[in-house]
Amino acid sequence: MALVFLPVAFVVAGRRAAHVGCRWALAFRFPAERLAGLTAETRAALEAARSRALWRHGELIGVTSGHRPAERQARIFADAIRREGSLEAARLRALPPGESRHVAGTAVDVRPVEGARWLERYGARYGLYRIYENEWWHFEYRPGGRPVLLPHPGVTRRPARSTVYRSNRVLTNAT
Ligand SMILES: [Zn+2]
Repeated sequence: MALVFLPVAFVVAGRRAAHVGCRWALAFRFPAERLAGLTAETRAALEAARSRALWRHGELIGVTSGHRPAERQARIFADAIRREGSLEAARLRALPPGESRHVAGTAVDVRPVEGARWLERYGARYGLYRIYENEWWHFEYRPGGRPVLLPHPGVTRRPARSTVYRSNRVLTNAT
């Protein structure tokens, strides 16, 4: 489908054809998408990455959620608390506004799964990384380098192996 846009895009935009054609293809496939509010760097990284995804590998990457105002994230978090039954359980699914990178404008949720897989594989050259094991769709712009893949939101590091080992020993000794 995307190739249909290519000849027209060349006439209109010359060297920028790939980017423009990519935007048209995305607007056609994901008409409700909004990139406003993302930081300029995050947006540029995303647009460069998905332009390459489309023209090199035929993958379209759509954004289901980009920047969120703090009030919106607060509502999402409040809903998660109600649904999950506790603050701790809610934090595995969503973060409060002060911690959410969506509020900061450096996170995007993408679709479809194939597009997310592409981004997971090639996103590093654009500073875009998957962050959580339980969210295949959530990517963040982290120009400082690949962050550790976390099991879920609400934690800042992976559980250390030695901790698990020690707690097993404690259990073994206790029984
Ligand atoms: Zn997200």
